Amino acid sequence: MKILVVNCGSSSLKYQLIDMKDESVVAKGLVERIGAEGSVLTHKVNGEKFVTEQPMEDHKVAIQLVLNALVDKKHGVIKDMSEISAVGHRVLHGGKKYAASILIDDNVMKAIEECIPLGPLHNPANIMGIDACKKLMPNTPMVAVFDTAFHQTMPDYAYTYAIPYDISEKYDIRKYGFHGTSHRFVSIEAAKLLKKDPKDLKLITCHLGNGASICAVNQGKAVDTTMGLTPLAGLVMGTRCGDIDPAIIPFVMKRTGMSVDEMDTLMNKKSGILGVSGVSSDFRDVEEAANSGNDRAKLALNMYYHKVKSFIGAYVAVLNGADAIIFTAGLGENSATSRSAICKGLSYFGIKIDEEKNKKRGEALEISTPDSKIKVLVIPTNEELMIARDTKEIVENK
Ligand code: ADP
Repeated sequence: MKILVVNCGSSSLKYQLIDMKDESVVAKGLVERIGAEGSVLTHKVNGEKFVTEQPMEDHKVAIQLVLNALVDKKHGVIKDMSEISAVGHRVLHGGKKYAASILIDDNVMKAIEECIPLGPLHNPANIMGIDACKKLMPNTPMVAVFDTAFHQTMPDYAYTYAIPYDISEKYDIRKYGFHGTSHRFVSIEAAKLLKKDPKDLKLITCHLGNGASICAVNQGKAVDTTMGLTPLAGLVMGTRCGDIDPAIIPFVMKRTGMSVDEMDTLMNKKSGILGVSGVSSDFRDVEEAANSGNDRAKLALNMYYHKVKSFIGAYVAVLNGADAIIFTAGLGENSATSRSAICKGLSYFGIKIDEEKNKKRGEALEISTPDSKIKVLVIPTNEELMIARDTKEIVENK
């Protein structure tokens, strides 16, 4: 069974064709600048790159080009489109309605539409992607996999904000959490690595990429997470401020005369590691600057480590213990310095890192010492594979 995984942004589209026989990636690629000048498709098969530059007015044209590339006579990977058994779509926001992935029908489309106020940038793009695929592959089953779904098991006292209850209810204001597909994937893989049933584990999964969040997972279910109503909450991120005193917002707006949109941009795009260091939102640049003596870069990184560590501590309390801490995503998978700095000073919890193991990269492994009370794991995330696995399961059981 081959599954096409599609992740649509407003002007971009990422895809992977996955053969579920061995979960291998048959082809993958990226379409950029949809609906703008310079639209381009970069299609990859076995490390070989095929670039198609041509106008793409909308997502339908883009998907058509992707399908053409997949069945291309010369470098195609399938004979015809009937070889695609199903399409799995990444959808940002499923609101309160979806705690799991689901086969897409008209009701699901309506629900994704109703969640647009909660995901104003992503949900419309996700809808465009699904619509385009439905038009081009009307008989192929489609599955929606929500970024928020995994966190729906949080208890009410973890997801409710302490603002007047009627306002929360009226506007669906609550903690939703994001990166759910990644947190779920690494928690399942962690259980495999530890040779345990997820039901017997308390895990703290740290997805540290440009966007970053941590999730407390008890018996395979999310019980708390750092992102909130939007992905702005929680950790310090590449360009997002994470948790700040909410009173800073009216304070800055009154002092500077900034508009709501300007303040929103400041917190989402100009803050975090970029805002504090003044160097970059990319941790590699900031680490380099810190190493060459840039004090603000050092400050930004120390703030980052401090925040991650604080939440790990908080979640050990939430879970009343932990069996393993898992690092994943760009920084979590690749930065030994960060993992080491975050885990430093956690000896009270019995956490000990083996610095030699910590230097390894690119594979799922345990980086704690054998006597570490809480294990520390690095697990490369694979959201596309999680989407494909869900899609396969749903389509096979429909
Ligand atoms: P996203 O999917 O959120 O855009 P990724 O999970 O790809 O992000 O993570 C991107 C981040 O990971 C970048 O900010 C980059 O700095 C960081 N990163 C990647 N490799 C390294 C590395 N070797 N050392 C430090 N940071 C890294």
